[in-house]
Amino acid sequence: MSASIDIHHLTKRFGALTVLDDISLAIEDGEFVVFLGPSGCGKSTLLRMIAGLEAVNEGEIALGGRRIDTLPPGERGVAMVFQSYALYPHMTVRQNMAFGLENVGTPRDEIARRTDAAAKVLEIDHLLERKPQMLSGGQRQRVAIGRAIVKEPRAFLFDEPLSNLDAALRGRTRLELAQLHQRLGTTMIFVTHDQVEAMTLADRIVVMHDRRIEQIGTPMEIYQRPATKFVAGFVGAPA
Ligand code: ADP
Ligand code: MG
Repeated sequence: MSASIDIHHLTKRFGALTVLDDISLAIEDGEFVVFLGPSGCGKSTLLRMIAGLEAVNEGEIALGGRRIDTLPPGERGVAMVFQSYALYPHMTVRQNMAFGLENVGTPRDEIARRTDAAAKVLEIDHLLERKPQMLSGGQRQRVAIGRAIVKEPRAFLFDEPLSNLDAALRGRTRLELAQLHQRLGTTMIFVTHDQVEAMTLADRIVVMHDRRIEQIGTPMEIYQRPATKFVAGFVGAPA
């Protein structure tokens, strides 16, 4: 089910602007990896490229050993969760969660089974017939996560999914994501500019700065042995 992700000498340009410069990274099957870095360093672009939503200029990305540009979109098996929940306002929670599956022709009873199971895990089973505007921010974010879970993806890609939540809810949802990862064992990539999120969630952190990877390591390694001044400053560790 789950997949490794291999990134090999990846470069990305928008016109004359290079936003990712020679990125290489191997993510193991089942690993929880956090891309940590300041705004504008290229985190979202890298995530979107892994999802196959942005073209690659140089280098390659492989998912489960196969180059993503050779995989048809329906077979990539990655699910992305955004900061802005992007739910369809005219659809119920159930319909929002089912939508992506209907599109790829999943049988009705299978859709219902997966939707009910995901809703239970996320404790939104009592909200399935409501419309998004009836939900709190935290509940909406759960629906967005639910919509990813029902796809049973080989990798989850989270782009700052907690940034719109208040502090208490952010902490709780963070914990629940960690539990979800334990339960599913699926490869997860989580993008954030928040050091605490990175330190508490990651098996390994990829610190990004100015188009490049500054350091890759466990939270402990990054904190105790920052490789550069930038990393030390950014994670608040002793230099
Ligand atoms: P982050 O997610 O780390 O904040 P992004 O990946 O969103 O960074 O952006 C990295 C850089 O690429 C920024 O300078 C941004 O302005 C630029 N960028 C992102 N998307 C586009 C685009 N579609 N066209 C042009 N420039 C872009
Ligand atoms: Mg971003």
